[in-house]
Amino acid sequence: MALSLPIYMDHNATTPIDPRVLEVMMPYLTEHFGNAASRNHSFGWKADAAVDKARQQVANLIGALPKDIVFTSGATESNNLAIKGAAQMCRRKGNHIVTSLMEHKAVIDPCRRLEEADCQVTWLKGDGYGRVSPKEVDRAVTDKTILISIMAANNEVGTLNPIAQIGKVARRRGVLFHTDATQAAGRIPIDIDAMCIDLLSLSAHKICGPKGVGCLYVRRRGPPVHLTCQIDGGGHERGMRSGTLNVPGVVGLGAAAEIVGCEMTDQAGRLTALRDRLTRGIMDGLDFVTLNGHPAHRLPNTANLSFAYVEGEALMMKIKDIAVSSGSACTSTSLEPGHVLRAMGVSDAMAQSSIRFSLGRTTTSQEVDYVIDQVIKAVGELRELSPLYELAMEQARE
Ligand SMILES: *Cc1c(COP(=O)(O)O)cnc(C)c1O
Repeated sequence: MALSLPIYMDHNATTPIDPRVLEVMMPYLTEHFGNAASRNHSFGWKADAAVDKARQQVANLIGALPKDIVFTSGATESNNLAIKGAAQMCRRKGNHIVTSLMEHKAVIDPCRRLEEADCQVTWLKGDGYGRVSPKEVDRAVTDKTILISIMAANNEVGTLNPIAQIGKVARRRGVLFHTDATQAAGRIPIDIDAMCIDLLSLSAHKICGPKGVGCLYVRRRGPPVHLTCQIDGGGHERGMRSGTLNVPGVVGLGAAAEIVGCEMTDQAGRLTALRDRLTRGIMDGLDFVTLNGHPAHRLPNTANLSFAYVEGEALMMKIKDIAVSSGSACTSTSLEPGHVLRAMGVSDAMAQSSIRFSLGRTTTSQEVDYVIDQVIKAVGELRELSPLYELAMEQARE
């Protein structure tokens, strides 16, 4: 197959919708347009049946029961519901939340908002790989702690947290445990019971489903979790999230969850091999390249590399037909060094030099080889212009 440009290597930002997912969604965008809450006619029943099926498909991916799944507009909303909903519901018990500096903004900002109100938040630092230890969590918990929110896998560097052990700490200390599993779901196995997870966020568009739909898993048994709902208006989704369901989106999320679950083992093996080929290829061709994030406890698809003496933004300009992310910016709207790398203790210079490569279902070995060549060439050219690089080379020779 011929290589087609541009190449997409930014699957942690979003993924292309799988054609199989689109196919099952289509009828719900056209002839089966019913409102899943319409109880009195077949249009509603048809939509409701499709939503039921999707609920089961999503639940299967994480070892949950269908009734535990609350559909939302995506992981940002799920995180807001979990964090603000738990804080408001548990207000009488306490007002302390434990989370980490490496979380996605969709966890950090709701926690900040609560901090501005009357909550106390402990921001764990993790280690140099961005990994939070169960001990660190245990030490932070007080008798006022109502929620622990620690992501399963980091979106910037791919580091995996020891979720099962953190869940055990939460269970032992009698504190709710929420995990943002948006990057982990479908990439690594997740079992909400074995991992003692009470609340879990995921999003369709990170698993080759459509944008604008996701869910929050809310434990209903042993012991049940209660949240204060954030969107009132009709009592949909067990009263936790009102609003007419995005039926085609929900159907797409269900199909995406089923496919990603079935193909997880194969894809994990394939992507790990491609990712390691990419990393090795680049590191064999260039000096002064470092890997950010944990070398072993890491998502199969993610490689975040810092190229010393090169600006990440400049590098991205040079490899224009390859879509990647620069770790120097936490979002495209800001140029400050990304909060994740900063929290990990990466220097500002190395953070500015970092590029996140995130592979996915559509990535081929041809693409990987092309990216290796282009990156080596571009970094070489940029370093030719760098006096600091010259100096470093001279020092290395001495
Ligand atoms: C993408 C992402 C989100 C946001 O998900 P949306 O569905 O786009 O709102 C939250 N957390 C993590 C870790 C993510 O990667």
